[in-house]
Amino acid sequence: MSAPLRWALIGASDIAATQVLPALRRVGHRAVVVASSDRARAAAFAREQGVERGTSAVEEAVGSDVDAVYISTTNDRHAAHTHAAVAAGRHVLCEKPLALSLDDAQGMVDAAAKAGVVLGTNHHLRSAPVHRTLRRLLADGAVGRPLAVRVAYTINLSERLRGWRLGAAPGSGVVFDLTVHDADTVRFVTGLEPVEVVAVGVGQGLAQGGVDAVAVAGRLAGDVTLHLHDAYTAPHARTAFEVHGTAGSLFTTDPMTQTPDGDVFLRRAGHDDVLIEIPDRENPYDRALRAFADAVADGGEPAATGVDGVRSLAVALAVQQSLTTGRRVTIPSTP
Ligand code: NDP
Repeated sequence: MSAPLRWALIGASDIAATQVLPALRRVGHRAVVVASSDRARAAAFAREQGVERGTSAVEEAVGSDVDAVYISTTNDRHAAHTHAAVAAGRHVLCEKPLALSLDDAQGMVDAAAKAGVVLGTNHHLRSAPVHRTLRRLLADGAVGRPLAVRVAYTINLSERLRGWRLGAAPGSGVVFDLTVHDADTVRFVTGLEPVEVVAVGVGQGLAQGGVDAVAVAGRLAGDVTLHLHDAYTAPHARTAFEVHGTAGSLFTTDPMTQTPDGDVFLRRAGHDDVLIEIPDRENPYDRALRAFADAVADGGEPAATGVDGVRSLAVALAVQQSLTTGRRVTIPSTP
């Protein structure tokens, strides 16, 4: 087992408080310092969340006696905060999307590689039991040759998260928030790279004059079709992830969440649907943190690498470009 890590948190955020800090403690790590752009919020977060101290100076936080830095500021600040942490020689777990441009995201990957530190992207869904099971079944040929993947990340955006996500500032919106997770999960489950997308976006009343629901049609390598439906505006929907192949189909129940719950069903010709047993229900954030600590210890890879973050961002940017231009967009290969 790898040694417990000492962490600096950059960003007094909801996800740090609700998911990552509890996970970090469950796996035996320690949160030493939290940095916020606002000194009073840093102090309040530290007090309320049991972090040893708060500061408004990112340099001070990353220069503290810590092994790693978790970055969960708004999306437009991830790149700058990653560079600050890497310059201090810290390993970095950064929230998705890694950055707002491919050049910036690739720059983060290059800087981490040059400094010899681990850079992970917190795409927690690939550490979830349902998605790990789907990946194993596909690799075992359970559905034959994949033909189509359908994902619905359809949620009712919590009242407490109806802030920057719904504005017009760079990095806001459903594509940088949800579609980027779809992209990573599809890559992880199928092992196939998205090749092209075309997208339609609508405003259904939550985003201020912007897009809060998107439908994406696309293609994965190997002529597999891709359908994504991502929305903040679906109060009664379930999320979904389906894979349809030449020999069968895989269905799931509510798989795009923050919990280790959800089931997988396999349907094959002439058989009733089979509920697939999932013996290991480890929380996805716990698992991702353990994988990150292992990567720090042995120089291996975290659950989702920086390059994975670049690839998922490439898909999100292609979807954004299609929304803007109304055209089909080819996804560039990794720069
Ligand atoms: P929050 O809005 O809670 O926090 C983001 C930033 O907003 C904080 O770093 C903080 O900046 C600022 N902020 C927070 N509260 C206030 C406030 N009351 N007044 C003014 N500013 C405030 O966002 P989320 O936690 O939802 O998301 C943070 C990041 O995590 C995003 O990159 C998002 O994409 C990602 N995320 C990932 C998830 C996952 O499961 N992997 C799930 C949810 C989000 P500062 O501390 O610098 O002042």
